[in-house]
Amino acid sequence: MECSYVVWLSYSGLGNRMLSLASAFLYALLTNRLLLIDRGADMADLFCEPFPETSWLLPLDFPINQWSSFNKNAPQSYGSLLKCKAISNVPDGNANGSSLPAYVYLHLGHDYGDFDKLFFCEDDQQLLRKIPWLLLRSNVYFVPSLFLIPTYEEELGRLFPQRDTVFHHLGRYLFHPTNLVWGLITRSYRSYLAKAEERMGIQVRVFDAANAPVQHVLDQILACSLAEKLLPDVSLHDPVISSTVTGSKVVLVTSLDSVYFEKIRSMYWEHPTTTGEIVSVYQPSHEEYQQTEKQMHEMKAWAEMYLLSSTEVLVTSAWSTFGYVAQGLGGLKPRILLRPENGTMPKPPCRRALSMEPCFHTPPYYDCKAKVVIDTGAVIPHVRHCEDVSWGLKLVDQAKRL
Ligand code: GDP
Repeated sequence: MECSYVVWLSYSGLGNRMLSLASAFLYALLTNRLLLIDRGADMADLFCEPFPETSWLLPLDFPINQWSSFNKNAPQSYGSLLKCKAISNVPDGNANGSSLPAYVYLHLGHDYGDFDKLFFCEDDQQLLRKIPWLLLRSNVYFVPSLFLIPTYEEELGRLFPQRDTVFHHLGRYLFHPTNLVWGLITRSYRSYLAKAEERMGIQVRVFDAANAPVQHVLDQILACSLAEKLLPDVSLHDPVISSTVTGSKVVLVTSLDSVYFEKIRSMYWEHPTTTGEIVSVYQPSHEEYQQTEKQMHEMKAWAEMYLLSSTEVLVTSAWSTFGYVAQGLGGLKPRILLRPENGTMPKPPCRRALSMEPCFHTPPYYDCKAKVVIDTGAVIPHVRHCEDVSWGLKLVDQAKRL
C-alpha cells in the first residue's frame, strides 16, 4: 500500500507507443513510482519483460478497467478535475488531503488541453505526488518537457550527463524483441545485411499521399542520398560491366509501399555505379496500410525499426515516430527528408538531425510561474526546436553544439 504507480495505457502506432512508454518510464523513475503497462492487443507478443523476476504487465483482473473510454474529456482526467475545481493545484489548496482521488487519469496525448498541460508545472507535480495511482495515456515523446520542470533537473542531469542519449539508453534498456520478433530480425540481417561492407537505411513514411506523388518522394530520396554522398550515382554511358568492384553497400528500405524499393533496386540493376560499388536493395515487408494491433503486422514493424537501427547511415521521413525509434536505438543522427511544402521538393531535400533524440511534437508553451505563453524551445540550452517539426521540442547535447 505504500507504493505509488504509473499505469501506462496502450494507444496509437507502435513507434508512438514506444516513445510514450519510454517517457512514462522516465517519469516513474523521477517520481519513485512503479511502472505497469496495459498489454493492449499485442504488447506481450512484441516485447520481453525488461525487469527480471517480475512483470511489468498490469494484471488482467486489475479493478479499474474502463479506460478504453478515457479520453481528453474524461471526468477522471487531471485536466477535467482541475477545470471543475474538484482538486486544486495551488500549493496546500487541498486542505483536506483525504478528498484527493485514489487515481487520476493523465491525458498526455497530442490532442490534450490546456488544463492537462499543467501536468508539466512544478505545483501540479507536487499535487500529483499525493495521488498513488496515475493512469497515463500518451502517444508522444514528452521527455523534453520533463527537463523543463525544476524539481527534476538535478536528477535528470545525473541520469543523463549527455542529454541527447535519453531515448537511446531508455529504449535499449526497456525494449527487447520477443523470440518471434528476434527471428524476423536475425533472418533478415543474416540473409541480406550482414555480408555487405556498409549498411544504409531509408525509412519512407508518407503521411499525406494525395500531396506526395511517388515520383516526388523518390526524387527527394535520391536527391538527398546523392547530395549527401550516401549512395553512388549511376552512369548512363559507362560500360555496362564495371571492370573493378570498389565496395559493397546494402540499402534497407522500409515502407508500407514497395514502389520506392522497386525503383531504387531497378536503378542499380539497370545501370552501373560511377564508383564501381555494388549496391543491393532490400525491403523486408510492404504491408500496404497501417494495421495497428494486428499481431504479425506489428511484429514486422518492430523488426524493421530494429533492423534500421542496425545500419550505419540512416535517412528517415519527417514527423515519423517509426524513424525516431530506429535512430534512437541505433544512436544515429539521420538525414531527415523534410516535408514538401505546396507540392514542391524542399531545398535542401534533407537535413542532418541535431541529435539522435526523438521530437516531442506537441509540447506545452507555458511559463508556469509567470502564467504566460513562452517559447519553451528557448529556455534551456539542451531543449531546442526540432529539425522536422518547427514547433516541436527535442533534447540536444549542448556541449556538442558549441
Ligand atoms: P508514425 O505514424 O510514422 O509516427 O509511426 P508509428 O509506428 O507510430 O505508426 C505507424 C504504423 O504503421 C507502424 O507502427 C506500423 O504498424 C505501420 N508502418 C508504418 N511504416 C511501416 C514500415 O515501413 N514497415 C512496417 N512493417 N510497418 C509500417
